[in-house]
Amino acid sequence: MHNTTILTLNAGSSSLKFSVYRDVTRLNKIVSGQIENIGQQAIFSSTQLAGKRSLGEVTIAQGLLAICQHLQNDLRLEQPIGVGHRVVHGGSQFVEPCKIGARELNQLEKLNPLAPLHQPHNLNMLKLAKKQYPHAQQVACFDTAFHHSHAWVNDTFAIPRHYYEQGIRRYGFHGLAYQHIADVLPQVLPEHAHKRVIVAHLGNGASMCAIEGGKSAGSTMGFSAIDGLPMGTRSGQLDPGVILHWLNQGMNAADIEDILYKRSGLKGLSMISSDVRDLINSKAESAVQALDYFASRAKREIGGLASIMGGVDAFVFSGGIGENSAQMRQKIMHNMAFLNLSIDVNKNNHTNSGRIDASGIPICIIPADEEIVIAKAVAQLVA
Ligand code: ADP
Repeated sequence: MHNTTILTLNAGSSSLKFSVYRDVTRLNKIVSGQIENIGQQAIFSSTQLAGKRSLGEVTIAQGLLAICQHLQNDLRLEQPIGVGHRVVHGGSQFVEPCKIGARELNQLEKLNPLAPLHQPHNLNMLKLAKKQYPHAQQVACFDTAFHHSHAWVNDTFAIPRHYYEQGIRRYGFHGLAYQHIADVLPQVLPEHAHKRVIVAHLGNGASMCAIEGGKSAGSTMGFSAIDGLPMGTRSGQLDPGVILHWLNQGMNAADIEDILYKRSGLKGLSMISSDVRDLINSKAESAVQALDYFASRAKREIGGLASIMGGVDAFVFSGGIGENSAQMRQKIMHNMAFLNLSIDVNKNNHTNSGRIDASGIPICIIPADEEIVIAKAVAQLVA
C-alpha cells in the first residue's frame, strides 16, 4: 500500500485544515495546509504552494472542493483510501476512532447539543467528504476519547445524579493533541513517560491535562470547551452564579454564549487582542493584566492537576503559545519550585522544542500534532 494516501480534515466554524500522508505503514506527510476565513474572504495556503491564494466568499463545501482540486490538479495525488476527521465530541459511547456509516453519523448528530459550535461543522464535513470521495473510508477521531480514563470524581459535577446519566459530565477536550504527546513521550522522556506528567496545550483554545501511565487522569476542560484556562476569546472557569445573574438581568442564552465563546478570555480582558503576540507587544496595562491572569490561572490548574496524581514527574508545553512564547512559559513557571518546577531562562529563550528545565523535574516543549494521530487511526482502520 505504498502509493495509497490518507487525507485528514479538521473543520472549524470558519477554517478547514488538511494534511495528506502517503504509505499507510510509514505515514510520510506530503502536504498540509488550510483555508481560513471561510464564509467571508477565504484564504487558501498549502506547504506545496508559494504564497497564499484568495478564494473569495466560499462555503465550507466549496472550501473542501478547493482542497480536492489542489491535491488532484496541482499535486497529481491519487484519491485517498481513507479520510480522517477531527470530531470534537464522542459523548460517552465513542471512546476510540471509528469508521463512520449512516448509523454512526446518526448517533453523533444526537451529540450536537453538547457542542453546538463545533460538532455540526465536524459532521457536515464527514458528509461532504463522503460525497467527494465515495470510495474512501470515513473515520472519526474524537477529542473527548482520550479522557475516557478519568476516575468518576474527575468526571462528574456535584449536581443531582441523574444529570450525569443524561450526559452532563466532564468530558475534557483536546484529546488528539494529548494522545500525540502520550505517543511521543516514551522517545522524548523515556524515564518519565509512564509516570505523572502535566501537559499544557496552550493555543487559541487552551487546556491542561494530567497524564498518568500514558492515560488521562484529569483535564481542565469539562462539559464544554469553555471551562478551565482562559483562552483567546473564551472565558475559562466561571462561577455559574454569573450566568444566573445575567439570565435574571434579561440576557438570553445566545447573548451569554457570544460573551463566553467570542468576547472573553485574553480578548475580553485586554480589550485589545486575543493573540499573545499583540499583548506582549502592547504597553497597555490591560494587556499586561490579561497575560498575568492567563499565567495565574495556569499556575492554579497545575496545582490542581498535580494533586489529582499526588505529584508531578514531568511537565510539557505545547500549542501555539506553549511552543512559541518564552515569556508566557517563564511567567507560568515563576515561583513553581514548590512542585520542583524550575525553568532555565537561557534555554527557554533560545528554543521552541526539547528540554528547558534548570533543575528539578524535566520541563520540555513538544510541538502539537493532532493530524498524525488521525492519520495513524485511519491507517489502522483501513489496513
Ligand atoms: P489553535 O488553538 O487555533 O490551534 P494555536 O495552537 O495555533 O491555536 O495557537 C495560536 C496562538 O498562539 C496565537 O493566537 C498566539 O496567541 C500564540 N502564538 C503563536 N505564535 C506565537 C509567538 N511567536 N509568540 C507568542 N504567542 C504566539
